[in-house]
Amino acid sequence: MYSFLLKIRYSSLIVTILIVAVFLIMGLLSILYSQYTVNESYKEQVTQESKKILSELDFAFDEATQIVERIINAPRENCKTEKYKLLKIIESTSWIRSVTITHQGIVTCSTFFDTSHKINLKDYTSNTFNLIFSKYLNPKRAIISYNLKKGDWDVFVNLPITRFFKEAPMEKFINETYIVVNNNWLNSKGEIFYNRKINLDQWMIFKSKNYPISVLVDYAAINKTNAIIWSSISMLSILFIMCLFAILYVAFTAPRRDLLRGLNNNEFIPYYQLIITADRKAWHGAEVLMRWQHPKRGLLAPVHFISLAERTKLIIPMTQKMMSRVASELIPYIDKIPSPFYVGFNISAVQIDDKALLANCKEFMANFAPNTIGLVLEITESQFLNSSNMVKLLQDFQNIGVRIAIDDFGTGYSNLAFLNQYKINHLKIDREFISKINKIKQNGCLVDTIINLAKSMNMHIVAEGVENKEQLLYLNRRGVEYIQGFLFNKPANINDMISALLKMA
Ligand code: C2E
Ligand code: CA
Ligand code: CA
Repeated sequence: MYSFLLKIRYSSLIVTILIVAVFLIMGLLSILYSQYTVNESYKEQVTQESKKILSELDFAFDEATQIVERIINAPRENCKTEKYKLLKIIESTSWIRSVTITHQGIVTCSTFFDTSHKINLKDYTSNTFNLIFSKYLNPKRAIISYNLKKGDWDVFVNLPITRFFKEAPMEKFINETYIVVNNNWLNSKGEIFYNRKINLDQWMIFKSKNYPISVLVDYAAINKTNAIIWSSISMLSILFIMCLFAILYVAFTAPRRDLLRGLNNNEFIPYYQLIITADRKAWHGAEVLMRWQHPKRGLLAPVHFISLAERTKLIIPMTQKMMSRVASELIPYIDKIPSPFYVGFNISAVQIDDKALLANCKEFMANFAPNTIGLVLEITESQFLNSSNMVKLLQDFQNIGVRIAIDDFGTGYSNLAFLNQYKINHLKIDREFISKINKIKQNGCLVDTIINLAKSMNMHIVAEGVENKEQLLYLNRRGVEYIQGFLFNKPANINDMISALLKMA
């Protein structure tokens, strides 16, 4: 898991994500644009073709009304002569297919019916274009019939309505187009729908100015492209969100991966701060304080990385490496370091019950002869309060010769008597308290209480963060055995620590 993360270079990952995102966005935008233009040109085409159909219909209806008017007003003749004239008229028109003259519903002359054929006049409304199925054609076909009444006389003309579709060059959209006459709908297959209810928003409607006819185009069907546009927009949004998440993920995991990279590159190095006897005559040992030799940010103090290392649990492998590195740094100087010399490691809450820690301690100690280098684990007061099996854990460590120090003592605001249940070797008074010695009276009392408590429990006391002689004097007077602080030395690398040691010797 860790090494997988390490392989991903943070900056190159971001660049790749951005490039992919830009390409995808550009691709989608070009699809969107082309779909948009296609959609617009579809609409333009549909409008033109529909208007063409409408003007043809207008023309046909003009023709029908004029012809019917002319015939009904002409003097009636015998059918033979009249039929001849009627056929001539049909021939001269573009749209009229048949003409029929009736008297009281009985055909007197027709280009389609035999004379004496009876027509049910109730089926027709005079002076109105009727969209009907012709009863007399086999198979039944949709026609538009127009008739005009004068006294007992009626003149009928028939227009072959489906021809309008055939003549319209609107093949692409023909399935979505309807001709509507007096609210009766005709589709291109010749099917008629009576009194259809529609949602007008979805239709492109072209109305005739002169007649109750319109051409309707199913906009929703044409508008399929709009659906594509919307799905593209939603895809784009999803993509955008995904990219955002990816970038956020990369950004959020960047410090963690940096830490991991540092671990793999052995950038975490030990600094040592000596702990000496309060009379300043001998050393007791040193505390190992981790530093990060960062390639870009320089030497970093623990405040910049320890809490992240704890949260990510990388502190476990970091401490492991630190222990073996400290061992290998001390080995060359082992003859110069006076024995016993106690080396303290800070242990975080997340690693105290890590099984490997015990093994790591054993490995560390195996490097040194007995009573040369001693190992101390510094465990904070709060960890004691939060761990249920601490007694057992400490026992395991102490069984292999590891010493236990309670670190940052006094900061946990706990009932100090809780320490009774543990066997603790060292107690480190937190530097907070030392810094206030001689400044705040109550603080002095608290330090005294801690010292007395430690003594009563046979613990060795280390005062952390001793910075001036007043503090040293105060601690000396109260019999504190060991001190650690800038008054004596600051954390330093192995070479500086060894020279400080030798100077003192
Ligand atoms: P700590 O365990 O309380 O360590 C003592 C801190 O006090 C060190 O800070 C040390 O440099 C500082 N110090 C010592 N004497 C003086 C003094 O006279 N005056 C002042 N102002 N400061 C003094 P550092 O090295 O920055 O470490 C801070 C904390 O980081 C440590 O506090 C410890 O909790 C943690 N830490 C350091 N190394 C490790 C590590 O390897 N593992 C873990 N888990 N934590 C570590
Ligand atoms: Ca410490
Ligand atoms: Ca401390």
